[in-house]
Amino acid sequence: MSRRTSRLPELTLLVLLSISSTLGAQGPSDDALLREATIQLQAMIRINTTNPPGNELATARFLDSLFQQAGIESGVYESAPGRGAVVARLRSVAGASAKTPVILMGHMDVVGVIRDQWTAEPFAAEVRDGVLYGRGAIDDKGMLIANLQAMLALQRRVKAGERLTRDVIFVANADEEAGGDFGMGWLLKNHPDAIRAEYALNEGGRTRVMSNGKRYVALQMAEKVSHVVTATASGPDGHASIPLDGNAIARLGRALGVIGAHREPTVLTPVTTRFFGALSAVWPDAREAQAMNDVASGDAGRITRGAEVLRSIPTLDAVLRTGISPTIIGGGIRSNVIPREAVATLNIRTLPGQSIDSTVARLARVVNDPRVTFVITSRGEDSPPMSADNEFFAAVERAATRVDPTMTVVPYLSTGATDSADLRRAGIKAYGLLPFPLEMPDEERMHGNDERLPLTAFLFGIRFVVGIAEALALP
Ligand SMILES: [Zn+2]
Repeated sequence: MSRRTSRLPELTLLVLLSISSTLGAQGPSDDALLREATIQLQAMIRINTTNPPGNELATARFLDSLFQQAGIESGVYESAPGRGAVVARLRSVAGASAKTPVILMGHMDVVGVIRDQWTAEPFAAEVRDGVLYGRGAIDDKGMLIANLQAMLALQRRVKAGERLTRDVIFVANADEEAGGDFGMGWLLKNHPDAIRAEYALNEGGRTRVMSNGKRYVALQMAEKVSHVVTATASGPDGHASIPLDGNAIARLGRALGVIGAHREPTVLTPVTTRFFGALSAVWPDAREAQAMNDVASGDAGRITRGAEVLRSIPTLDAVLRTGISPTIIGGGIRSNVIPREAVATLNIRTLPGQSIDSTVARLARVVNDPRVTFVITSRGEDSPPMSADNEFFAAVERAATRVDPTMTVVPYLSTGATDSADLRRAGIKAYGLLPFPLEMPDEERMHGNDERLPLTAFLFGIRFVVGIAEALALP
């Protein structure tokens, strides 16, 4: 059962917040904006939304009350006890000539932490040397605050007499990190009218700082599909004092060795072809840039050569082919008993349009052992890729140039799965961004230890998202 509420939360922090909603169209200075946004992000990180169980409702109420305080229409939708989404909306006054709405979205839940591997307290949101530490800083609470600030910026423009050309909808949802059954999936099923839109800006892309210090934006327009496959080896069981040929654990070990060395074929999609073509123009290493050019050439020989060079960069290799990662292994219960079975779990990420069944058939062929069988235990669902030739992509390009005139926007296929797949299947054109420019080591802290966000990158990202919202919703 769902319930729509708009109660004010108990959080006393609120009085400190939303300073900027009282300013004129000009908006706050960089200092004031960063100060306010930092307080907001710290408040969000301090509400522990580790999923499971999620408990996003307190965060939803917190955001809801910020909107109410700013005079922006907003409500909380409860998807389950303690869980829910907040949806806020700025309305256009363009009437029949209004363009289709756009969503600014993010998720409130976070993945768990291995506490003793952190040097900072994960839910304290401490700022050290200009860097904010905390679970959710870059995935995805920072983006939620950037989206919130974009709503406040548009609201100031409206108060100053400007008119929005389309509705702008803010969505903070639950349960992204565990499948979305109580988050985007639930919202699409139960409240489709609240989020009916043509475009959505979501997580899933990157703003990357290259080794030469220059930035590029990888705008996610397609994503790989995640499947779970188990490989089961069987063999004779018995007492460990008598070694047996065909021991299931040894058999599984051999199979995993073969799987580890196997590489799925290189496949270029329209998105990855454009990605490598555009990236080659700004990439600092000449040999790798040439390889990207080769990969984007459409010529089979050059593609093979280029892909071989890019093999040394795992993040790039992963977008060139379906990827297979063994993640769990099990078998045996006692040190002196040979078990009948040993099982490994494989996480397989197929490229859009590629079939998991074909990959599994190829694995069975290369392993070539009738006593190792493969079963698809969880099958992901594909979603259509987005276009780079529309007003949304152009708005992101315009906003990117405004925050950094040298920054290029390249179409990107993400290896990670996001809520955008649900949206795309529902007909909403969803694009993924991480607006904060990060160097690779910081980007890799996502879901890892000492997740952090440099405050300069935070401010840059807020300005970037505000620019995107303005490019889409102001004349
Ligand atoms: Zn995320």
